[in-house]
Amino acid sequence: MYKSGRHFLQIPGPTNTPDRVLRAIAQPTIDHRSAEFATLGREVLDGLQDIFQTSSPVVIFPAAGSGAWEAALVNTLSPGDEVPGFDIGEFAKNWAEVARRLGLAVEVMPGDWRRGVDPEALEGRLREDHDHRIRALLVVHNETSTGVTSRLPAIRRALDRAEHPALLLVDAVSSLASIELRHDEWGLDVTLAGSQKGLMLPPGLSFNAISAKAMAASRSARLPRSYWSWEHMLAANRTGVFPYTPSTHLLFGLREALAMLREEGPAQVLARHRRHAEATRAAVRAWRLEIACQREDEYSAVVTTVLTPEGHDADRLRAVVADRLNMSLGTGLGRLKGRSFRIGHLGDLNDLMLMGTLCGVEMGLAFAGVPFRGGGVAAALESLVATHSVGAAVSAR
Ligand code: PLP
Repeated sequence: MYKSGRHFLQIPGPTNTPDRVLRAIAQPTIDHRSAEFATLGREVLDGLQDIFQTSSPVVIFPAAGSGAWEAALVNTLSPGDEVPGFDIGEFAKNWAEVARRLGLAVEVMPGDWRRGVDPEALEGRLREDHDHRIRALLVVHNETSTGVTSRLPAIRRALDRAEHPALLLVDAVSSLASIELRHDEWGLDVTLAGSQKGLMLPPGLSFNAISAKAMAASRSARLPRSYWSWEHMLAANRTGVFPYTPSTHLLFGLREALAMLREEGPAQVLARHRRHAEATRAAVRAWRLEIACQREDEYSAVVTTVLTPEGHDADRLRAVVADRLNMSLGTGLGRLKGRSFRIGHLGDLNDLMLMGTLCGVEMGLAFAGVPFRGGGVAAALESLVATHSVGAAVSAR
C-alpha cells in the first residue's frame, strides 16, 4: 500500500542516497576497458586517497564491507597467525569470526559493548607478547552496533609504547567520511570501508587503504587469495582499470559523492556529524532513556544506540515507528537485540531531517507505550540552535 511522503531511512547505513548521486548513477553503461573508463577509475582512486587521508594506494572491490574484511586479512596474514579481536560489539565479533573461519588464531579480548578498545589493556597484552607472535590487531573504529568509537590515536600509541610490530587493521566501514580518520598520520596499516554509509552510495563497493608496511607483509603472507588479491588489483589500477568487471555505475556515483564531499568541505562534513550526534544525545537524555556508549570521548558521531527500559521490546517500538511514521530505525544487534534501537545520523543529512527523525522517535515512544519524559525534540532543537555556527574546527580524538 502506498505511503505518502518520503521514507525516513534512519538506520546507520545504508544511508540516504542523494538525488545527485542517483542521477550520476543513471547513465548508460560504458566499456570498462575504454579510455573513458580509465579516466573515471583514476579519478575515483585518487579521490579516495583524500578521504582516507593517505598517499598510499586505496583499492576498490565490487563487494560488501565484509569483503573488505576478508581482503585485509588474506592479503597480510598466514594460516595460524595470532590476531587479537575485541569483544566490543557485533561487528568486531563478526570480523573476528571471519578471521577464525580463514584459519587464523583469534584470541578475543573481553569488552562490555559499552566502551571501545581499551588502549591500556591492549598495551599490557602487547608487552606480554615478548616473541611477537601477535601479527595483527583487528580494530573496529566505529562499532555500529553500540555507537562507540574507539580511540585510534591512543591505540596507535599503545602499539608504539609497547614497541610491538603488529599490523593495525582498522574497520572504518561506518566512520569513513563521517568521523575523523587519518590513515597515514595515525599509522594505520589497512583501513577498510564500504560505500553505503558516509559516502552516501548504495551498498556494493568496499575499500582497502594499504600502508607500505601492509604491502610488504602481503609479499610473504600465505593465506590463499585470488578475487581479493591486492597485487592483481594494483597492477590493473595503475592504468585506471580493474582485473575483473567493476561496478561501473557505483563508480559513477562515487565520483559524484566525492565531488559533493569536496564541495561541502571535509572538516565541515565531520563537524556536521558531530553536531547532529550531540543534538541526538540531548534528545535521548531529555527522554530519560539510556545511551549505550558510556564514555564521552567515545561517543559516535554517526549512530546513537539507545537502550529501552526493562520489559519494553525495542523491536516493537521500531515496528510501530515503521508502520505509523514510515521511518526505519536500526535494530539492536547481537546481545543488544530487543533491548536497543539505533538512530542513524550519518551521510546526507541536514538539521530538518534530523529533527524529523527525532520527532518520529518521540512520537513512536508515545504510540508504543514506552515510558519516557517529553521534551527530547525541544532539547535537540535547543542544541542545534546553540551550535548552529559550528564550522571547521574539528579536533582529533
Ligand atoms: N563493519 C561495520 C562497522 C559495519 O557497520 C558493517 C555493516 O554495517 C560491516 C562491517 C559489514 O559491512 P557489510 O554489511 O557491507 O558486509
